[in-house]
Amino acid sequence: MTPLILQLRRLPRLHLMTSMAILIAVITIVLVWPKEQSPAEPVNSTPFDSSSVSNPTTPAVTPSEPEPKPDSLDTPEIAAEPAPALKPVPQRVENWVEYPVKSGDNLTTLFKRAGLGPRDVYRISQAVSGSDALSRLRPGQTLAFLIEDGLLRKLRHAQDRLNTTLIELTDTGYQVQQLERTPESRTAYAEGTITRSLFLDASEAGLSNKTIMQLAEIFGWDIDFALDIREGDRFRILYEQDYLDDAPLDQSRILAAEFINQGKTFSAIRFTDSKGNSQYFAPDGRSMRKAFLRSPVDFSRISSRFKPERYHPVLGKKRPHRGVDYAAATGTPIKAAGDGKIIWRGTKGGYGRTIILQHGGNITTLYAHLSRYQKGLNNGARVKQGQVIGYVGASGLATGPHLHYEFRSNGVHKNPLTVALPAAEPVASEERAAFQAESERLLAVLNQHANIHLALSDEESPK
Ligand SMILES: [Zn+2]
Repeated sequence: MTPLILQLRRLPRLHLMTSMAILIAVITIVLVWPKEQSPAEPVNSTPFDSSSVSNPTTPAVTPSEPEPKPDSLDTPEIAAEPAPALKPVPQRVENWVEYPVKSGDNLTTLFKRAGLGPRDVYRISQAVSGSDALSRLRPGQTLAFLIEDGLLRKLRHAQDRLNTTLIELTDTGYQVQQLERTPESRTAYAEGTITRSLFLDASEAGLSNKTIMQLAEIFGWDIDFALDIREGDRFRILYEQDYLDDAPLDQSRILAAEFINQGKTFSAIRFTDSKGNSQYFAPDGRSMRKAFLRSPVDFSRISSRFKPERYHPVLGKKRPHRGVDYAAATGTPIKAAGDGKIIWRGTKGGYGRTIILQHGGNITTLYAHLSRYQKGLNNGARVKQGQVIGYVGASGLATGPHLHYEFRSNGVHKNPLTVALPAAEPVASEERAAFQAESERLLAVLNQHANIHLALSDEESPK
């Protein structure tokens, strides 16, 4: 049981490091690639497609030209259709020039590159003062200029694929607009079999690092992803995939998942109750979580275990050790093991700064040797599982910074590392019907996808 706990803590870090390495590799490729194609040269970009923005703007039109109908610009597919009765509307092509933001750039350097002077920098700065527009110029972004007869008509700052600032010259001066796009969320499916590791096989199945971490988190209470995983284990996942202009963006959340570990099937359904709280439950309504965290701190090692008798390093005599010591750096956050109420917050002899939580089912947990308490949490305050209540220290009788953690049930000390943890609350009875419907719907979609996958792989394999 003990090495299991230790491994469980290390696992996400290993994954994280692999993920980081891949991420860095991808970033490097992305950074290098466009540079070879277009160094610091300005890029002639297509007119800003305002139709794809949730807050469209009408492109600038010179007074001599007839005012184009907004419809014909906002919905090009209608304009493209043959409509002999209508005269084609003359469309003015905007000559945008786009500059990539480089390291060390600011408005002055970018404006200079675009052939504009300090006067323009001043006028734009005045226009954006008081807002955070143009305040975060970062390499990788672009600044696009629409200059006509030496006059800056429009300026466009693309922060990322979803957020753009547009500054436009109007009769009353420069007007600033924030254009935000909302990605479209679609249900996606992935499945796979473990042949090497969860991370490698799930990545190959198309899951992002974030989704893999989410998967490990959902089933982490039942499956130890470092020790329990076997070759041949299988997973099937229904998740949300964001799209922008039909191009995949982020994977957001897992909707339903199934993990077969050593022949045992675990299923999880995401359910949002009528109060808006989202959690994962088994199809029968049991929570996927336990009511208590096994370890309330991210520790480097267990420095002392639960022992009925031991030699106390500071007192120099035999003393029972009724908790677990987790060695961690001073200042490491300590989390409430479960939902509860603070019934003690103060110094308690050799325990130093101590917090005691009262939970349901006559269970209390104790956290000792804190360097400090979390601000705003006084005696009597209610806390949620995982909420930070204080920070690791060495107050009281301690040889070094660590958390001394105790778990008491009906007043009796239990070994926190081995005590059977009660499950978190199941689906509430008044939410039961809604959960049942959602669970059946999601499992049906999951099975439907699985069948399509099966049919496709049958076609691919030689007869
Ligand atoms: Zn201790």
